[in-house]
Amino acid sequence: MGDQAAKLDLDAFWMPFTANRRYKANPQIFFQSAAGMYYTTPDGRRVLDGTAGLWCVSAGHGRRGIAEAIAQQIQTLDYAPAFQAGHPQPFVLAARIAALAPPSLDHVFFTNSGSEAVDSALKIAIAYHGAKGNGQKLRFISRERGYHGVNFGGLSVAGIGRNRRQFPLMLPGVDFLPHTHAFENMAFSRGQPAWGVHLADALDRLVELHDASTIAAVIVEPVAAAAGVLVPPQGYLQRLREICSKHDILLIFDEVVTGFGRLGAPFAAQYTGVTPDLITFAKAVTNATIPLGGVIVSSAVVKAIQNSTDGVELFHGYTYSGHPVACAAGQATLDIYQNERLFERVHNMAPHWEQGLHSLANEPHVIDIRNIGLLGAVDLAPDPRDVVGARGLAVQAECFERGVFVRPVRDTIVLSPPFIIEINQIDEIVATLRAAIRRIN
Ligand code: PLP
Repeated sequence: MGDQAAKLDLDAFWMPFTANRRYKANPQIFFQSAAGMYYTTPDGRRVLDGTAGLWCVSAGHGRRGIAEAIAQQIQTLDYAPAFQAGHPQPFVLAARIAALAPPSLDHVFFTNSGSEAVDSALKIAIAYHGAKGNGQKLRFISRERGYHGVNFGGLSVAGIGRNRRQFPLMLPGVDFLPHTHAFENMAFSRGQPAWGVHLADALDRLVELHDASTIAAVIVEPVAAAAGVLVPPQGYLQRLREICSKHDILLIFDEVVTGFGRLGAPFAAQYTGVTPDLITFAKAVTNATIPLGGVIVSSAVVKAIQNSTDGVELFHGYTYSGHPVACAAGQATLDIYQNERLFERVHNMAPHWEQGLHSLANEPHVIDIRNIGLLGAVDLAPDPRDVVGARGLAVQAECFERGVFVRPVRDTIVLSPPFIIEINQIDEIVATLRAAIRRIN
């Protein structure tokens, strides 16, 4: 990792989701700076960013317009509260986000992260039913293999067992739909698999089991990202929508990854033609420069809650809800998406991306490939002689050595490059993955 980084004391920073002792004994992946599509390591090597950081640097690194907006805002109004007080930036950004969302979703509640957005959405769902006199509608339905952040609400509806095991205390009353991935029926599907719409009928069975009068909301990621980019079967989200509407169950799309253009439309809602009642977002809204998240809420939900009281309608909010600097960063980010037509660019690049990834189908160990928009995943068979995840880590290390950053989720390589990626850079990611996969055993 270079001399300069080698001199750092790595001890005090308790790294998140990291095997700290193993990493610190050999900190191979270490970044010093970034610009455009590339990270630079401390020893001066350029590494192509195949993941947009953690699915968040969608406009590419080091965008000057965002840096300038942040600097300017700090000098104009560094902070002001938003509890019973106003300042321009969150109003302007909320209106712009609402304008990007499907028409019925027209209010924005700001948080600082995706995890907080999810917990806020769950609370809003409960407040909505309470306001309508349905205080017994408290249950949440989510999905196996879902990831909804790490706070207690999001963890309670999370379907990735490993993340839950250490924290056995959860919200009660959560049940799970089956996940939507089935190798035998959909391996190597391009885009949304043709098989699997019937998996949504499990929601009917859960309604039958628990009764609709106890269910507040269904929360799903339109594309399950952290589980390894599981793409929803054609018609699946539509079916969830129909069942929710029939029973006055709110539908929450967790669009922390898919929001702001990742699929080539502003939100997965527009991409799939399915309008939820709430959308959670974070990450790409500020191009990851300043933490910001939020919930886009339908006017029907907001009005029901507001009409229930003359006073404070939602006893919820964060010191930094609508932080002026984060909101200025958000506006500058939306300017870039708009001026450079980056969502359209994703749409136009997606066929080449799909073609490139699926050209890996016959490489050793490859058991599935998935893609949608500028998201992708390559599944490798776990090494029967080693622990699950060993092959994924080996491919990541091999790619990093060859100048491309990819991310393993166990033995799945997940990919989500910045939207400014060029055709030859897509080819470079694919060629590097091919070489790395051939190299490992
Ligand atoms: N929801 C989804 C779908 C995510 O992918 C993530 C993070 O990756 C989160 C929520 C949590 O976001 P954060 O890490 O900003 O709290």
